[in-house]
Parts: sequence; C-alpha cells; structure tokens
Amino acid sequence: MVQDVRIARRTGFCYGVREAVDKAKEAADAGKLTQTLGQVVHNEGVVAGLHARGVVSISGLEEAENGSTVVIRAHGVTPAVRESAAARGLDVIDGTCSWVIAEQKQLQKLVDDGYTIVLLGTPNHPEVVGLLGIAPDAVVVDEEDDWDRIPRKKRMALITQSTQPPWKFERLAARMVHLAHELKIVNTVCPVTIRRQEDTVETAREVDFMVVVGGRSSANTKELTRLCEIVGTPVMQIEHARDLVDPAVFGDARLVGVTGGTSTPIEDLELVAERILQMAGTPDAQARARELALEALNAAATPAGRTSSLPTNPRITAQAAHVERHLPAGGRSRRALAAEPEAEPSPATR
Ligand code: SF4
Repeated sequence: MVQDVRIARRTGFCYGVREAVDKAKEAADAGKLTQTLGQVVHNEGVVAGLHARGVVSISGLEEAENGSTVVIRAHGVTPAVRESAAARGLDVIDGTCSWVIAEQKQLQKLVDDGYTIVLLGTPNHPEVVGLLGIAPDAVVVDEEDDWDRIPRKKRMALITQSTQPPWKFERLAARMVHLAHELKIVNTVCPVTIRRQEDTVETAREVDFMVVVGGRSSANTKELTRLCEIVGTPVMQIEHARDLVDPAVFGDARLVGVTGGTSTPIEDLELVAERILQMAGTPDAQARARELALEALNAAATPAGRTSSLPTNPRITAQAAHVERHLPAGGRSRRALAAEPEAEPSPATR
C-alpha cells in the first residue's frame, strides 16, 4: 500500500501559460469584456474559474463582440489574425509567450533568408498553426515515420515547436544533415520543457510508481509518460484526480511520484497526490492524506505562484471566489500566491 507521495520539482503552469491566464484575469477584473482566442488552457477547473470571473473563450475573431478585449493565448497566432483584430479595432492583449515570440521572429528570418524550412511539431497544434502563418511553405513533420516526406534541398533550415522533446529534435537534425548542402538548425525547444523532463526522470528514479497529469493529447505530457517508461517505473497518465478509481493499479507501490504537463496547475497535482493516498494508502496515509499531499507540494521547488503571479484581487467576484474554492481541479491552493514564480528564461540568451 502507498505510504507517501512525491511531487516532481518545477511542475505546475509554465511561465508562458501562467502569464496568459493572468492577463485574462486582469482584463476581466478591470471590467473589460474579455474573450480568449481559443481556450487559454485545456483544463476545466481553470476555464471554470476564468468563466466565473467573466472571461469567455471564443474559437475565432468572428465571434468577438465589437469593442471587446481579446486575449491571445501563450501559443500565439498568425500575423493574419493580428491584422484582422487590428482592422476590427478590437482591444488585443497579447499573451503570446516570450519564447514563442522569439521563435516566430527566428522563423521569419529563415523565411526572409530563403531557406526551405522543416518545422518539427504537431500538425494543427495552435503554436504550429501560428508559425505556419509566418512560413506557409514549411514542411511540418512530427513522428519519425513521417520524416521521409522531407525533401532534399540545397539550403534547408530546421526549427521546432517549443514543447517537442529534445531527443527528437536532435535525431531529426542528424537525419537532415544528409539532406541538405547547407543546413541551419535553430533550437527552439523551450528550456521549461527540458527542466520538467529532467525533474520527472529524477522523481521516477526515486519512486515505485508515477502518475502523470495532463491533457491526453498534450505532446509534452505524453513525453513525460514516455520518459517514466524509459526509466522503467510503472506509470499511469490521467487528466484529473477523478480518473483515479482503481487502487489496484498501484500494486505494491509504497512511494508514488506525481508530475504534470506545462498546462497543468500545481493544485491539480496536489489533488492527485491526496487522492492516491486516500484510495490506495495505508490506514495511516489515508488518515493523513491531506497533510502528506501538502507536504509533497511544499517540498517541490517554488510550487506556489505557478498558477498565478497576481496578488489577491479584492475585486474578484464572490461567484468567482466560490468557484475557485470548489473546483474539482485547478482551483488555487492556500499557498498559491505566497512565493516567487519560476524565472522566465531569456530567449535572447539561449
Ligand atoms: S512551454 Fe515554454 S514556450 Fe511554451 S508556453 Fe510554456 S514557457 Fe512558453
């Protein structure tokens, strides 16, 4: 039976997601009619909290009301979307992650320099869609069995979606060496992604079982699961604490690790840790499930502040406060506003 849980260091929202969510909250709290262009994060608890605050999600600019505020999420958008928003006179709040902005600029330079561009990324992912707005002729490839489509050209460039695994980027770069006379490699794998993978591996080595929390289709979440498998630690990937229904999956595990993707709030990991202890813990662990989950949260590196870097807003509506307190997933913990957020790496220094 499970005696204790451990939450991987440096989990919770990445700084890009956190900033975009905060910008949406700030706009709504300032009384603006606020809409996010696409769901700012695929997490029902966070979306419910935003909704209670007055933030709604729209799938395209055609749904935006005249005179409203539109928040661009961390993945960014195409230049055409920006132009269209400006032409309509919408109040645009740019929540594009600074790393993605740097990536877009580098891609524009490759286009201007005339390279045949290969983009490693998940087709139709919003970040990739935004990049294709800059380089519509880029060849998008994802899994290795797709790489035969890459043409042989004199001058080629390779760039990547920020959350692709570094090993895949390196392997593709090696493959492309044979395809081009001149090959330019621009490494835009986000360092947050790399650190998260390192910390997940470290935790997986120390525990008997791993639980990975994040969207089913999230590439960076799936990669965390894959890394646990490589370490040889039994692993289960879930979206919510409520997905844990069968204590038998933990087998003889005594220590269970928890990690999550870049769009997973740290409070979700805390809830998952508590749920594991409640359903599969020893009698003592069950009785102390809440306390042990909080201890695991506190032991993770600067866990608080990952969901928001905003101070407590006295103007938050009673309804929003109620929703955030009672979310099934994604609500703020008591500690959420206490510590410094993760430092943002400078794209200029990579
Ligand atoms: S994963 Fe990295 S690049 Fe993507 S939004 Fe988060 S911080 Fe920005």
